[in-house]
Amino acid sequence: MEPVRFPFDNSYARDLPGFYAPCEPEPAPAPRLVHFNHALAEELQLGLADHDADGLAAIFSGNCLPMEATPIAQAYAGHQFGQFSPQLGDGRALLIGEVIDRLGRRRDIAFKGSGRTPFSRRGDGKAALGPMLREVLIGEAMNALGISSTRALAVVATGEQVYRDRPLPGATLTRVAGSHIRVGTFEYFAAHGTVDQVGRLADYTIARHYPELQDGECRHLHFLRAVAERQAALVAQWMHVGFIHGVMNTDNMSLAGETIDYGPCAFMESYDPKAVFSSIDELGRYAYGRQPRIARWNLARLAEALLPLIAPEQQRAVELATEVLDAFPGCYERHWLDGMCAKLGLEPQARAGEGEVAALAEDWLALLQANRVDFTLAWRRLADAAEGHDAPLRSLFGEHRALDPWMARWRARCAGEDAQCAAAGVPAPADARARRMRGVNPWLIARNHLVEEALEAATDDGDLAPFEQLLAALALPYQERPELARFAEPAPAAFTRSFRTFCGT
Ligand code: AMP
Ligand code: MG
Repeated sequence: MEPVRFPFDNSYARDLPGFYAPCEPEPAPAPRLVHFNHALAEELQLGLADHDADGLAAIFSGNCLPMEATPIAQAYAGHQFGQFSPQLGDGRALLIGEVIDRLGRRRDIAFKGSGRTPFSRRGDGKAALGPMLREVLIGEAMNALGISSTRALAVVATGEQVYRDRPLPGATLTRVAGSHIRVGTFEYFAAHGTVDQVGRLADYTIARHYPELQDGECRHLHFLRAVAERQAALVAQWMHVGFIHGVMNTDNMSLAGETIDYGPCAFMESYDPKAVFSSIDELGRYAYGRQPRIARWNLARLAEALLPLIAPEQQRAVELATEVLDAFPGCYERHWLDGMCAKLGLEPQARAGEGEVAALAEDWLALLQANRVDFTLAWRRLADAAEGHDAPLRSLFGEHRALDPWMARWRARCAGEDAQCAAAGVPAPADARARRMRGVNPWLIARNHLVEEALEAATDDGDLAPFEQLLAALALPYQERPELARFAEPAPAAFTRSFRTFCGT
């Protein structure tokens, strides 16, 4: 097959020599296309509309690389569960190039599971089909929810087996990202490189992701602040939908502000700040409720790497960086509260009176926790209550009257806002609040039992139908579809109690 030509413009390979190792993908013996996102390929202007499944499998297995691809394994380090690992890097991933998408955004195209690289250490550089399909399902679910995320373009079964606790079908995933620059990328050059290298990486990242800061004074301090702002917004969005990343190591935190590295992630079922699903997170470091604090901890590691650029005198640099880090909780809180207002069907906090709305939100969550109520269903049924249908919501609570005092406060708040609107001559139709709430409180999330069911069918029986059905359903998470009611149901409690996720290694 003639190699295709993608409209590559490979700035990382071109501008940052010494920050990666060139490396070719290993050939796949019998590539077979398992999944392809045609709409995303069009968005990336890859010119693949006329390619059949075999042609796409050849390209996205790495067997027939596009012309002018410059496959590289990026160097990075990282703090894993709090411990510094000075040498990580792309052990099973290759950046094959960058394109400018239809909206003018620069996007990385990278393979995952395409074989060994100079950073593979003892790993085989390969990936199993199940975890790659998991990344497709959860990443696409996040994207459809409106949460910034890497995307999955293709999955190709390689035709060989990979050996984990048992032999599994191997696969490569093609991942699309704003970039793959991580906090750990900075840590790597702060630990092994020169200040000049950290500066070049920072300036590259600023130009790519924060161009408005390029020519200003103190740009590296502003850069730290801007990264913190994006992380605060992102983690607040995770919290709003009950997403648990599961492995928030600094090498899994993207400077582009995208959710990246879908390993042991999961959506929470009943509300519990301590919810953890990852088998390796024994101490609950990355539990649902700890995510905002961990984001700040990770930003502190970025700040350390940037210190020599922030100010020539270390003491001064530490003071300036500390100010940014100390502002993080307040910044996160604002994003969290904005989203909570919307979820509660209230006006943005500026008009709502911050303290009262925060208390309303906190008390609602406490009720969900005390009654072990499904997080997603509770929010969705609160929208029904906004239209006067309380029964579906009440039925989630064992003690039906448990909600009464809170509901009275919430209704008073809503009524107060409606009265203000009426006074201002803005009509507030009865169903408008419910409609708004249904636009931010998903009807569907990627529930763990459904994800597992789909992956098992694909891995054990070669049956992709459950995967495809679930993926299609997750594309419209805010739209209630009675024929898909099964997908909106919580998992059986016994399933959730014993459910564990694994890093897809
Ligand atoms: P992750 O848990 O996916 O964030 O990966 C952590 C580190 O382990 C990264 O440096 C990966 O490249 C590396 N890694 C994970 N799985 C493999 C594998 N099968 N072979 C080689 N390196 C791997
Ligand atoms: Mg990773």
